[in-house]
Amino acid sequence: MSLTKGYAAQVANGKLEPWEFERREVGANDISIDIEFAGICHSDIHQVNEEWGEAIFPMVPGHEIVGTVVAVGSNVTKFKVGDVAGVGCFVDSCGTCEYCLDGNDHWCLDNSAYTYNGMERDGVTPTYGGYSKNVVVKADYALHVPANLDRAGAAPLLCAGITTFSPLRHWNAGPGKKVAVMGLGGLGHMAVKLAVAMGAEVTVMSHSEGKREDALAMGAKNFVVTSDKEELKKLANTFDLIINTVSAEIEIRRYIGTLRQWGSLVVVGAPGKPYSIDGSILMGRQLSLSGSNIGSIKETQEMLDFCGEHNIVSDIEIIPASAINEAYERVLASDVRYRFVIDTATI
Ligand SMILES: [Zn+2]
Ligand SMILES: [Zn+2]
Repeated sequence: MSLTKGYAAQVANGKLEPWEFERREVGANDISIDIEFAGICHSDIHQVNEEWGEAIFPMVPGHEIVGTVVAVGSNVTKFKVGDVAGVGCFVDSCGTCEYCLDGNDHWCLDNSAYTYNGMERDGVTPTYGGYSKNVVVKADYALHVPANLDRAGAAPLLCAGITTFSPLRHWNAGPGKKVAVMGLGGLGHMAVKLAVAMGAEVTVMSHSEGKREDALAMGAKNFVVTSDKEELKKLANTFDLIINTVSAEIEIRRYIGTLRQWGSLVVVGAPGKPYSIDGSILMGRQLSLSGSNIGSIKETQEMLDFCGEHNIVSDIEIIPASAINEAYERVLASDVRYRFVIDTATI
């Protein structure tokens, strides 16, 4: 075991405060990463506040991790000391269930180990996340971060990037396709950049005018203010795919009405309230309401390589660890463009 420093919530709804804890020794299949940057994901706040069911405390959040490999186990060939490595939302899976065998390890049927607020596969050792100086993980669950990418801006790719890349790929965003992105926040701005790079024509749907310039600068062709009901009506029968990153309550049927034949509205931001929907509005043009959550290790690497080729990173505000609690307040107030990233040298 080796001692490391981090920021932890000691209890549900607690403030994030400095905490020292142990990381395991580097096993034969492990690597040790000295963390440089850790993104703040909205789900960190949900979990610290125990909004998603029983949580494990003390909790060191953080599943958008980038750093440098400082040790490798004897069996590891995937990484060498000095490589830039990333860690996303999970750090282990069974490797033998139908989904793991099929390359969809993020859907493991038998006890995936989440990066924090979870247990290792032994079922008794809690996992601690990226708001810390160091992490030890199985090499197979770490990612290569392309050297040309800004390391701080690359951290949010590990969750916000893959969460939007996976549905864009699955529903074939690309040339000739019209994609709408609902909400221009941490997830939404990644969806815009990725869909534009894939060659799709992108429209941003936002509740207010404030982010128009940013959306167009990110490559969106159109910007629609959704508080004006007439604007959405004009877009009837337009989009092949809508990525919904909005967790606030919305009238989902107004958006479904903008889908064209075989179109899908994909939920990636956990809705705060259940949707009320008359199923018949999906019937006419074989429309779908669907969902997506993170992605496999294989697809996360594909996403990082794609971002390397297209030089895509998140728009970020770097903060010292002492500002995490204030950053949480600002995330809740939608006052961030577009992701906070902790400089872990300040821990
Ligand atoms: Zn996340
Ligand atoms: Zn499995």
